[in-house]
Amino acid sequence: GREWHLVARPQGWPKPEDFALRESAVTEPADGQLLVRNLHISVDPYMRGRMNDVKSYVPPFQLDEPMEGGAVGEVIASKADGFAVGDHVLHGLGWREYARLDAEKVTKVDPDAAPLTAYLGVLGMTGLTAYAGLLEVASFQEGDAVFVSGAAGAVGSQVGQLAKLKGASRVIGSAGSEDKVRLLTEEYGFDAAFNYKSGPVKQQLKEAAPDGIDVYFDNVGGDHLEAAISSFNVHGRATICGMISQYNATEPPAAPRNLGLVIGKRLRLQGMLVQDHKALQPRFVEEVSAWVRSGQLKYRETVVTGIDNAVEAFLGMLRGENTGKMIVSLND
Ligand code: NDP
Repeated sequence: GREWHLVARPQGWPKPEDFALRESAVTEPADGQLLVRNLHISVDPYMRGRMNDVKSYVPPFQLDEPMEGGAVGEVIASKADGFAVGDHVLHGLGWREYARLDAEKVTKVDPDAAPLTAYLGVLGMTGLTAYAGLLEVASFQEGDAVFVSGAAGAVGSQVGQLAKLKGASRVIGSAGSEDKVRLLTEEYGFDAAFNYKSGPVKQQLKEAAPDGIDVYFDNVGGDHLEAAISSFNVHGRATICGMISQYNATEPPAAPRNLGLVIGKRLRLQGMLVQDHKALQPRFVEEVSAWVRSGQLKYRETVVTGIDNAVEAFLGMLRGENTGKMIVSLND
């Protein structure tokens, strides 16, 4: 089976030469293990951080080893109780065609309950991030005005719609193209949206939220965070979920330059990691899957086909070529 290895640590934007698609032997599962043929693999922003050799909340990818990440696949051989050939599973050994792993490290998923790709996005890690980040970390309350950046992406599009469904007074989103901005207001029900590439974020946010904001869900950092701090009402709360504007930066960011406002406005800026919120998983799946079934919560996916295109899909996601969750499908 083929698998993607990191072969050089990227400086700034990753280059195709930093990766290599290599062949590796597919071996039989040992006792307690499964052999899985991956059907869909996830490419995510946090993987950029794992390409650096720095200590973080996840260990760095090792050079000349397969990279890891979310994947769903089909069991093709089982030496573990409770798993049969043909079962579908979610697990952490993506970036490869075949995964051999301990049964404790996989979760069974039901292909009849939702499309398999949904377990990587709207009902998966990015969905839980949106749910926990808005409801738990930002302590969202009915009547809050909510601003979310990266709003046409996997996490952001779900944050905005959840806020509407939970009774936000106003939801504002920012995204990087006119098409994405239209999608936010016309399909996802945002009250206002703007293209952060077409003018200063601070000014565009002021115009979109004339009465200020109470919650900011930050996927981007930098100018977006600075703008949110300016637009916050007193006792505003920010979930600091991601800072994608900085993942490929080689210089420290200039913004936010207005952190002093945190004092007078009594703001709360709270970082989050989705893995701390596993306890919410059952409630999240129950509530969100019902909204997806009823059509009250919409989602998009951008699907790239073929393991050989996985690095391009990852880089494309960092450049904003995705709308909703970026997925690489391996089945033809
Ligand atoms: P997305 O689906 O949102 O894809 C990434 C998007 O980021 C792109 O589509 C692009 O959209 C946008 N983007 C890229 N560069 C910039 C930039 N310089 N400024 C503004 N936007 C930019 O990815 P996810 O939904 O998977 O992740 C969203 C964020 O959430 C990321 O920051 C990620 O790291 C974070 N995250 C954090 C987790 C946690 O536990 N803390 C868990 C999961 C995700 P556009 O066209 O609009 O520019």
